[in-house]
Amino acid sequence: MTIQINKIVIHCSATRNGKSLARNGLTAAQVIDSWHKQRGFKRTEANRKDFNPNLGSIGYHYVIDIDGTVETGRKIGETGAHVKGHNTNSIGICLVGGITADGKNHGEYTAQQWWALYDLLLNLEQRFPHAKIYGHRDLSPDLNGDGKITRNEWLKDCPCFDVWQWLDSGEVINVDHLFKG
Ligand SMILES: [Zn+2]
Repeated sequence: MTIQINKIVIHCSATRNGKSLARNGLTAAQVIDSWHKQRGFKRTEANRKDFNPNLGSIGYHYVIDIDGTVETGRKIGETGAHVKGHNTNSIGICLVGGITADGKNHGEYTAQQWWALYDLLLNLEQRFPHAKIYGHRDLSPDLNGDGKITRNEWLKDCPCFDVWQWLDSGEVINVDHLFKG
């Protein structure tokens, strides 16, 4: 069966920049799974049996923690729960972080996270050359119909950086959004 993927969507966890989500023996993906369980997200039994049976709820396909660890969530091809209206034929990737120490929605990600994201996207682009990469906010509704999704139309700021500007730059590390500690 050929897996059809049209969109790769980048998210953030909307938690403190540079702060790992791993805690109490749980990995970042397991912590997000518990959040998504509380929100009522549920993977099907068949999908759980097939892949990551211990993650019953997580809506993303990948999670990248601050040390650059890439964890899987849902299986590629499994319908996600990460972006309203675009959950089929898409892949959701969540970067841990997004919020500054003083509470601003400005994502700062570690060099390890930038490298991990870059490598993951290269790999996924090879597997799914027709997929287009988006930031979550780029999939907000185009309220005034001008064909552009502008700041006032963003449903949320996620992933708290401009994905297309970063891709256009060709750089691995986005210096305006690099967490330096
Ligand atoms: Zn998001």
